[in-house]
Amino acid sequence: MKIETLAIHAGNHSDPTTGAVVSPLILSTTFERAEDGSILEGRDIYTRASNPNRRALEEKLAALEGGSEAIAFASGQAATMSIFHSLGGNTHVILPDDIYYNTKVIIDNLYANFGLTCTAVDMTDLGAIKRAIKKNTKLIWIETPSNPSLKITDIQAVVKIAKAKNILVACDNTWATPFFTRPFEFGVDLIMHSTTKYFGGHSDILGGVVILPPAPSLGAGAAIRTFQTVGGAVPSPFDCWLLSRSLSTFAIRMPVHAQNAMRLATFLEAQPQIEKVNYPGLKSNEYHKVAKKQMCNADGVPCFGGMMSVLVKGGQKEAMELASKLKIFKHATSLGGVESLIEHRFSVEGTHSSSPENLLRISVGIENIEDLIADFIQAFQ
Ligand SMILES: *Cc1c(COP(=O)(O)O)cnc(C)c1O
Repeated sequence: MKIETLAIHAGNHSDPTTGAVVSPLILSTTFERAEDGSILEGRDIYTRASNPNRRALEEKLAALEGGSEAIAFASGQAATMSIFHSLGGNTHVILPDDIYYNTKVIIDNLYANFGLTCTAVDMTDLGAIKRAIKKNTKLIWIETPSNPSLKITDIQAVVKIAKAKNILVACDNTWATPFFTRPFEFGVDLIMHSTTKYFGGHSDILGGVVILPPAPSLGAGAAIRTFQTVGGAVPSPFDCWLLSRSLSTFAIRMPVHAQNAMRLATFLEAQPQIEKVNYPGLKSNEYHKVAKKQMCNADGVPCFGGMMSVLVKGGQKEAMELASKLKIFKHATSLGGVESLIEHRFSVEGTHSSSPENLLRISVGIENIEDLIADFIQAFQ
């Protein structure tokens, strides 16, 4: 089945007792045993361990990435933590230098005490990755497109380097989503998502997921599941139900994000107030060639997602001014919702930020593109 159909039908089992076409929301935290006190086969016991809505969501998420199993979390950060946790102590991780800011904060602030160390490298420089490998390197973390500079990592090339050294590769696929990039096809071992973003799509659910590959060979899956069920970093049944609902329209939303982003990037590139547009769909973009290799829809048509960033001519002041003059684009963090957002990353990341001070990150929504362009035209005046 194709992604449009999976997004609607995977995991959505109609209810045998009521005939409801949409899975009902089951809020109960506990489930009754058989008359003789035994555990009924296939029935849940306690919602932290499993719940019908979470199971349905996990089935859908696994199907969308073509994985064998999905493990849903209360946030993307919890999903990331489960992967780092599964590695054990005295472990080294290689991360991109341009990365979702808080991924690195997890290692530096939470796992440093457990002997987890990391090296940040430019993931587009294969030599730099090779040089960063240590005896205890267990994981290479990929995020492509990267946050906020939209660097594109050649997934296949990184997997090749990692496999030769028995190192796992995890891919944060939050930005590309399986609509534009399917990392299991390139051999990665784990996929992580902040489902808060494009999967949720409406900026009203926080969530995360780790997805295991089609043929899981590693032990990490069991440790990640235990982190979820015993650690308790679980999403509520309502969030699972809501996210399943949002995913029904996922495959319809995504091409609009990408079309709008392509048009906006092309427009912005021609504006004198803009120094540079970081969008892998532009022919002028330094990562366009690699992006074309791995960013396309399921029919093989190149498309490059809904995220971009721009460098405004001038500095922080000029960038902030532009953001504040826009009316449709709201100045707020996060991304992947139906509404367009813009954000000055440097001022939110603080003094450790490596984001340029004149950078604005844009999450292009699914409004009418003429309105979005008109908003920039009035802001530039
Ligand atoms: C938002 C985000 C995260 C963190 O997810 P939360 O749901 O906010 O915990 C991780 N990676 C990327 C790329 C993100 O955009």
